Amino acid sequence: MKKLQGKVAVITGGSSGIGLATAKRFVEEGAHVYITGRRQAELDKAAKHIQRSVTTVQGDVSKLEDIDRLYATVERAGHRLDIIVANAGIVELVTLAQSTPEHFDKTFGVNARGTFFTVQKALPLLNDGGSVVVVSSAGHTKGIPVYTTYLGTKAAQRSFVRSWAAELKERKIRVNCLSPGPVDTPIFETQGGTKEVADGMRNDFAKQMPLGRIGTSEEMANAVVFLASDDSSFCTGIDLVADAGFTQL
Ligand code: NAD
Repeated sequence: MKKLQGKVAVITGGSSGIGLATAKRFVEEGAHVYITGRRQAELDKAAKHIQRSVTTVQGDVSKLEDIDRLYATVERAGHRLDIIVANAGIVELVTLAQSTPEHFDKTFGVNARGTFFTVQKALPLLNDGGSVVVVSSAGHTKGIPVYTTYLGTKAAQRSFVRSWAAELKERKIRVNCLSPGPVDTPIFETQGGTKEVADGMRNDFAKQMPLGRIGTSEEMANAVVFLASDDSSFCTGIDLVADAGFTQL
């Protein structure tokens, strides 16, 4: 029996990395997925990779009108939702001293505010018994130079999950958090600028991991399937840390 047979899911940031691997796994497990991202060309490539049972909706999670358009598209197709994966995220490496209001607002706008309204605006379409998964970061329990704003948003996400799980329990909607450690995705290129610098960061992180390597998007997709499916039916409000032991040992 497939784990997500007949389910309908929204995955923000589904055109790349963890979101894309999750979308592919969800479809293999029997779901129909709506994936969002800012660039239509990337979404088209992702849809080709996923092959079937996928609808793309271009949009920026920091823009409320784009989130409204996403859910209007779901509604127009006659779908209701069973699963929301709030995964879209960005990181900019800046010291406290050099952080500008624009940098602060951009990071909180996408990661914290984007997650908040992605979930809030899904509520009318979300079936009772549904599942919400928020992709945070294991780093939210650590202090790491130049990651202040990013990890602040990730701590906010982890906190949202606790309150939402408490608020939505009457509707049997479970809300859980996935906190990945370093995972091999294009997010390193956005931090490093060049492939060479990004690969250097991957190697540096791998050396710090108790398991001696960084993770794969497919490993994160496995964890999201667990949280989204009945396999985790007794879990709500949790933070599932998948980080090679980095923050736990
Ligand atoms: P990625 O860069 O491959 O994917 C990020 C996705 O988010 C892309 O599809 C991108 O288009 C989308 N996105 C970014 N800004 C958006 C916006 N404003 N509106 C809509 N979509 C937007 O990175 P990833 O590593 O797959 O990251 C996915 C999530 O995992 C993020 O929330 C990230 O913070 C988290 N995470 C990643 C790592 C890691 O090491 N890769 C570690 C911990 C947490």
